[in-house]
Amino acid sequence: RQNLNDKTCLFCADLETVHHLLFDCSIMQIMWKDISQMTQKPNLSSFEAVATYWLSNKKQSVINMITSALLWSTWKMRNDIVFFGHIWMNMQEIWRRLLSLKRWQPLYPKNIQVLDRCLLLIDAKAREEVPWLCL
Ligand SMILES: [Zn+2]
Repeated sequence: RQNLNDKTCLFCADLETVHHLLFDCSIMQIMWKDISQMTQKPNLSSFEAVATYWLSNKKQSVINMITSALLWSTWKMRNDIVFFGHIWMNMQEIWRRLLSLKRWQPLYPKNIQVLDRCLLLIDAKAREEVPWLCL
């Protein structure tokens, strides 16, 4: 369990704030860049950019599901590390956690072709070899 007085980011050792953890962290910047490419929504790298899509949820339900799942997965993983002694290994773990989207089926839009394509890409990312981050 991490010392709760220690305010360093668990991924990069900068000062951890909620905004840093979910958006500014170098690890999350890579995640957001990949999510932007997957969803073909440029510049998904800030809270403001992500929240813009919340305003048109009917048209943007897939992007909102994916970004919400990324925020949820990251927050949950951070808490698993801080409170349950989980050891973070690599970025694949975030992608694997993002696959929890498959369990969000009741929220799926009627046209799920875009979501299916993104889930295939997320699944591929979860299986990718990333030796430069492995411990
Ligand atoms: Zn960080």
